[in-house]
Amino acid sequence: MVLDRINFLKDEINKHNYLYYVEDNPVIDDYTFDNLFAELKKLEEEHPEYKTPDSPTQRVGSVSEKFLPYTHKHRLYSLDNTYNYEDLEIWYKKIMEEYGNDVELVCELKIDGLAISLTYENGLFTTGVTRGDGVTGENITQNLKTIRSIPLRLFEDVDVEVRGEVYMPKTSFEKLNEENLEKGEKLFANPRNAAAGSIRQLDSTITAKRDLSIWVYTSIFENLPNPPQTHYESLMYLKKLGFKVNPNIRLCKDVYEAIEYCKEWENKRFELDYATDGVVIKVNSFAIQNDMGFTARAPKWATAFKFPPEEAVTTLEDIELGVGKTGAVTPVAKLKPVLLAGSTVSRASLHNFDEIRRLDVRKGDMVLIKKAAEIIPKVIKVVDTEERKSKRPYRIPKKCPGCLAPLEMREGEVNLYCSNPDCPAIMKAKLEFWASKDAMDIDFVGPSIIQQMYDKQLVLTPVDFYRLTMDDLMKLDLVKEKSASNIFNAIQASKNRSLKRFLTALTIKNVGKETSDILANEYGTLENLMKASIEDLSAINGIGSKMGNDIYEFFHDEKNIKMLDELKSLGVEPPPVELPKSELFKGKTIVITGTLKDMTRDEANELIKKHGGKAASAVSKNTSFVVAGLNPGSKFDKAQRLGVIILTEEEFLEMIKSEEKG
Ligand code: NAD
Repeated sequence: MVLDRINFLKDEINKHNYLYYVEDNPVIDDYTFDNLFAELKKLEEEHPEYKTPDSPTQRVGSVSEKFLPYTHKHRLYSLDNTYNYEDLEIWYKKIMEEYGNDVELVCELKIDGLAISLTYENGLFTTGVTRGDGVTGENITQNLKTIRSIPLRLFEDVDVEVRGEVYMPKTSFEKLNEENLEKGEKLFANPRNAAAGSIRQLDSTITAKRDLSIWVYTSIFENLPNPPQTHYESLMYLKKLGFKVNPNIRLCKDVYEAIEYCKEWENKRFELDYATDGVVIKVNSFAIQNDMGFTARAPKWATAFKFPPEEAVTTLEDIELGVGKTGAVTPVAKLKPVLLAGSTVSRASLHNFDEIRRLDVRKGDMVLIKKAAEIIPKVIKVVDTEERKSKRPYRIPKKCPGCLAPLEMREGEVNLYCSNPDCPAIMKAKLEFWASKDAMDIDFVGPSIIQQMYDKQLVLTPVDFYRLTMDDLMKLDLVKEKSASNIFNAIQASKNRSLKRFLTALTIKNVGKETSDILANEYGTLENLMKASIEDLSAINGIGSKMGNDIYEFFHDEKNIKMLDELKSLGVEPPPVELPKSELFKGKTIVITGTLKDMTRDEANELIKKHGGKAASAVSKNTSFVVAGLNPGSKFDKAQRLGVIILTEEEFLEMIKSEEKG
């Protein structure tokens, strides 16, 4: 029995290793793979008699025959990994038993890319090789030479082998997939596959066109008179030699500080423009590292804490249709619940019907889903299986699921729209949006309460929210006096939300949060905006004639004018926008990065605007300066590269303070 399971696991893992490392086309997610691997490892520990040298637990990766093989001078290993903190503590306790209580650790982000080794002789780049199976890799020197962040000559003439991770920035990965989509070429499932696929091209001119970069994290020096004694020192030295070393490394005095680091990055990693799948924790002292040594597959002095999976494979049970506030009807995948990025997910976005056609997704398919930042997960691809071919392709609907009116196409748009302006599903979506965090931010008023309010004919338009009495609210199911009063107070509190929020909530065609912000700052009050001409509106930077026209029409539509009057008479009136306090930052574009000590990022952005500046989220050569808090990310690096001035939070606040003092 046990042997059968062991053999099954070995076969499965070997198959997935091949698909992952050689074909760059995994069909299961890493979390599922890691679970199979952990199960095999455990069974082999319990039954050492079944452990064989060819087991995948005794080996690293896989090597393809696409390139010339290259035998590594020093073996490359993998890393043991865990998804929980207790294992980290157990690992560290064992180290303490041997080496005392003050073993320092270095934490680094685990870059989800492709491991490679670079050899430099006398400071000159000579050979670049993939990790392969750790003993033999593929010689890809020519391709690696096309990556600009790999130095061809170092600042010192040393002999060194360095290891690092080649990666593709997330934005470049998305762009590459968009281009491939247009050309009808293969799409990559994630930035790692895209990086691996790009670097392992037989034609290096293709690699040169792909935006690849590297983070370097290991070095083996030869003939160096005073070699670094710790890992941290070696990283600093690599930086000095001209290598790209990740700025988010941290020296920790014990495992608890390391766990803090992991917790900190579990969410902050989404701000980075490169994919990370965990934290690598390494013993800092080289003396201890040497003493601890390696297992067949991984160093004993390092371990990886893996973040909860961002990708998962599950069954698509159905394709449901949603109706949005604009009337767009969009398909949503109903999934067999699966663990993803720390929460259980049962729905994922399919965007539109073109996307369904492109994916050729069918009911009952196994699909790979992915979650990025706070965005709801989306279906990335269908996992190809034999059975699916017998299933019926998805048929695009013809009627609105909310009111059965025919669906219509609109010129230049990919979505299908409900043709009925009074469709109850559109109205409900508008009400939900009105109360949502991005718009009027009404606490306690979520989709299920709104559904009831609508069904009981208490709220049919946003104006009705403000006519609700306590008696009305008590008519809702499961709403007692306490919650009725919470809802009532929350609605009252929303009456004086900012002009930006109010304009966002109105769902004017094509006007979102950002355009609302521009309009609010430009006109200051609703009255002024309502008086604006098409020409005035169209002339505003970032608006243009099409949107200018839509805005003008909205404010000259009788129904809308009546609604705005009613809202005003019920006390729903955004206060005038505060004029800039000063012109300190006039004409300046400022970017905040990292964690600020004395304020949130939103508060800092507000301060910039109050002083006449523009707060931006990306660094470019037009950025006037960057304010860097703790642990700044890639924006900091980019600012450095472009020579943009970098201020500390204190310097930034000091500028404002002296301006306010006059
Ligand atoms: P790994 O990715 O778990 O860890 C080892 C690797 O981490 C190193 O070789 C190095 O490339 C990389 N790394 C990134 N940042 C680093 C840093 N700062 N310091 C040191 N190393 C760093 O191990 P692996 O052997 O490359 O791959 C195994 C993993 O790949 C599995 O855990 C699994 O998640 C995934 N995998 C998935 C499938 C699948 O079918 N989905 C198949 C095979 C492997």
